[in-house]
This record gives sequence, C-alpha cells and structure tokens, in this order.
Amino acid sequence: MKKVKYGSSEKDIVNTGRGFDIMPEKIYENFYHLFKNKIEMKYMIYKRNSLEINDVVYNEKEDQIIIFVLTDALRPDHMSLYGYERETTPYMKQAGFIPFNDMYACETSTTRSVPCLLTSMKRGENFLTYLEKPSIFTIFKKAGFYTAFISAQSSISTSDTGQTIIADDADYSFFNINFDVQYDTELLPYFDNILNNSNPNKLIAIQLNGSHWDYNTRFKLEDAEWKPLCENFALDCPVENLVNSYDNTILTTDTLVKNIVERVKDKNAVIYFSSDHGQFLGEGGLRMHAQGRLNFKETGVVPFAVWVSDKAKKHINIDTILHNKDKITTHDIIFHSISSCAGIKSSVIDKNLSICSESLIEAPDEFKNYIKKPRN
Ligand SMILES: [Zn+2]
Repeated sequence: MKKVKYGSSEKDIVNTGRGFDIMPEKIYENFYHLFKNKIEMKYMIYKRNSLEINDVVYNEKEDQIIIFVLTDALRPDHMSLYGYERETTPYMKQAGFIPFNDMYACETSTTRSVPCLLTSMKRGENFLTYLEKPSIFTIFKKAGFYTAFISAQSSISTSDTGQTIIADDADYSFFNINFDVQYDTELLPYFDNILNNSNPNKLIAIQLNGSHWDYNTRFKLEDAEWKPLCENFALDCPVENLVNSYDNTILTTDTLVKNIVERVKDKNAVIYFSSDHGQFLGEGGLRMHAQGRLNFKETGVVPFAVWVSDKAKKHINIDTILHNKDKITTHDIIFHSISSCAGIKSSVIDKNLSICSESLIEAPDEFKNYIKKPRN
C-alpha cells in the first residue's frame, strides 16, 4: 500500500489543516479545530514559559551579525541561483550565495513551517511540539546576542499564533499589523534600526511576504520584468501568466537581499536564506500551496542558501559548507546550523545537523520516484 504522510483528499486537507483561506465552505470544521487547538495551545504555552536552557556556551571574541532571511512560497527551481533560465536572482548569484540542493520543508503552510524551522523541533513531529523546543532566539539571547524578528506579514489571524509565539522569544519583534509595509523592501528601515543599535552581537530574522499569492501585490507593476501578468486577482489565468507574476516577485526578494548584503558586507556577518514552503504553479492542475501537500516536490522543496562575509570567512570554513551543499537536507538543519556556525555550544545544538560540520547527516531522498504531474 502506498504510504503518504498526509491525506490528499479535500476532506483530509481540512482535517489536518486549519486554513480559512483554503476552504471557506468548511468553516464550521475549521472553527472546531481552532477551538480545540486553542485549548491545547494554552497548556503548551504554559509549558513553554518554563522552558530553560542553561548550558549555552559562547566564547567568540569578535562581534558578529547573523541574519536569516525567510521568504514565503519560493521554489528553488524558479531562482537563477539554482539554474533557472530567467534571471530572477541576479544579485544573490553575483554575491556568491551558496545554494543547497535540495532542502525539504518542515510543512507546507506558513503557520506550521515557520515555528518548526525556527526551533529545534523536528520535521514530522506533532506540530505543537515547537512549543516545547528552544528557538534560535532563545539560544542566541542566552549567548548574549540582541535578537529581533521583523516580519512583513500581518499575523492578525488566529492561525498565525505559532509565528507570534516564537517571535516573542526575541528581544524585539515587529509584525505588519497596520500594513505600514507594502513591499518587502520597506522592511529595510526596521532592519536598519536593529542593525544600528548599540549591541555588538545580533541575530536578525527578517520574514517576507516574498512569493506568496497575490503575486502582483509583491512588486511594483511598472517594474514587472516578465509579462503578461496573471490579472484581476484571478487564479484561472493561463499558467504562463501565473509564472510571469510569480517570477516577478522573486526580483523584489533579490533586491531586498542585495540591500542587506550591502549593509553588512564589511562586517563579520553571515546571511542565511530560505523559504517556508514551495508552490504549485499549475503542475497537475494545482496552484498555490495548502496543508497536506508535503509529499509533492513543488510545495515540499525549498531553497536554502548561505552568504559569508570576508571577515566571517576567518571563522567559518567555506569548504565544509561547499562539501555539504549537495546533501539532501530538511528545515531541521536551520536551527542547528545558525547556532553552531556562530560558535554557540549547547546540548540542544546537534553538530550532525549543522552545515558547518563535516558530519552533517543527509536526509532520505523522498522524491526519488517523483512524478512531475502528480494528478491528471
Ligand atoms: Zn507561507
């Protein structure tokens, strides 16, 4: 019998997920699950408050800036950094970001994936497990870093609770609740505020709307490089137009990354880049992403890339990262890599899940028998 991690019928998707956005007609079921999860979560938050990590050791002498750019719904095979024929990430390529092939997402919704990848929670564990696990902010704070989570996402719905709980671990968090940030590049003033504060060691996570639908709202229409676009908020446009709109979103992300690199290139700095999940762009008649589709490569595979400044190259062995870049990995390595590469030690940090360790363990290949068109 074929074993899939999640059901793939509409009913199963509703039962495993909690997205109002995907199935408005199932609103009563969604309410039931929200209510049930709210009670569960109250208990778990109570438990999280008593989470104590007391063996963090950090002895690095030089100040360092660690940045994690987390975009949304971006597929690596649409980035020129990964060989896509359209120049969607010209800057990242030129700046020398090291791309990892392939990384599997923790989950295929923002709500579930983000708390998972920011903590030591493992992919496949019950999604509320993140509440019992330290986040990168927990660890870096213990190591004496100033930590911040800056997000272009509004996080106003109950289903985004996971992101806000983890963001609360940081010294500073910002969500775009008043919609002050229209394009991701408008996060830069918030980023600068953190970068310029007096603390010499910083961890800054910056979360984008990135390539999340509605694509046309992610870039200035007059800047569109590829046309015609998928017009009128319609998901039934021709696939070519859908892809044009999608690809234009990636240029905005590339520009944001360029601005960040320019600000830190002379410092002892490392930038990590990933996406929370992927996206269907018409394959098998499917579009967007939804819970329960981790078993499809379009939504289950994400980019992961690393940039190391010249000063940071004195502390980080680039050859080790290059040695690891072709290993199959999962979101699980993000927590351990960011902490371990920064020189932080703790019993909760696993070197076998760090890109700065020769012993990085490769994940199983889940898409060996992957068929390009999963349906029809
Ligand atoms: Zn997302």
